[in-house]
Amino acid sequence: MYADLHLHTYFSDGTYSPEELVSHARASDLGTISLTDHDTVEGCERAHAACREAGIEFITGCEFTVEHGHRELHLLGYYLDTQNAPLQAALSRHQAARRERVRQMIERLNALGIPICEETVDGLAACRAPGRPHLARALVQQGYCESMDAAFQTYLKRGRSAWVAKEKMTCAEAITIIHGAGGVAVMAHPGITHMDDAIPELARSGLDGLECFYTRHSTAMTERYLALAARLGLLVTGGSDCHGMNKGRPLMGGIRVPIEYVGRLKAAARVAA
Ligand code: AMP
Ligand code: FE
Ligand code: FE
Ligand code: ZN
Repeated sequence: MYADLHLHTYFSDGTYSPEELVSHARASDLGTISLTDHDTVEGCERAHAACREAGIEFITGCEFTVEHGHRELHLLGYYLDTQNAPLQAALSRHQAARRERVRQMIERLNALGIPICEETVDGLAACRAPGRPHLARALVQQGYCESMDAAFQTYLKRGRSAWVAKEKMTCAEAITIIHGAGGVAVMAHPGITHMDDAIPELARSGLDGLECFYTRHSTAMTERYLALAARLGLLVTGGSDCHGMNKGRPLMGGIRVPIEYVGRLKAAARVAA
């Protein structure tokens, strides 16, 4: 049995409903999954219910965008108590910041002569954690860009004409919140984050694990992170980062994490809780 511990639904920037996600997990023969939407745990309850019916083990999760020394990284929280008040407060705050950022990016697009309106984007982002992928989809649907990637390249990437900086928690704050909600904190996709130099220090300040298995990690990278995790005493996780059709094709099934790693993650969460 295998796991995929990094998945998104339409509650953030994926295209699947929680039920569709679980039916793809079943088709991919996964025994355990975690839903890790950006800045929200709203989809977890439905995903959990669908997993129960499908006989799949479900782990609550969330992907936090954080900063550490002016650099950005993504932290995955697993085994979170989704009702935990400080967690909910932090998520609400960041969801509000996301909505405000989208509003500001729409203003920039309007100033560039692109009459995209908030209602259009809201219609595509029927969730509390909207982001640039929703804007990109609006730009494609309205014929202003040929593809999501073109929308990012032309307008939405850091430094491009409609880009607005994102408000972030510090890594230390996010780790505290994750631990406070009974969860474990894992650095997402280290191979594309390029912050290897900071990993030992983060491990000393509470980071629990490393996402060693990841769609865009080469075999050599995966081996390097497995060795680093072993050396620093960090847990090992992995996932596809499937966003449904938002990354061109569904990535689920491409990463198959051996179940023994999930057992260790679960044991660590119990200790943290
Ligand atoms: P945001 O959270 O609003 O800053 O948006 C970041 C999200 O945009 C990431 O999680 C990716 O899923 C997505 N993304 C980044 N670059 C691209 C791209 N070139 N094409 C499609 N999606 C992208
Ligand atoms: Fe995303
Ligand atoms: Fe990420
Ligand atoms: Zn992700």
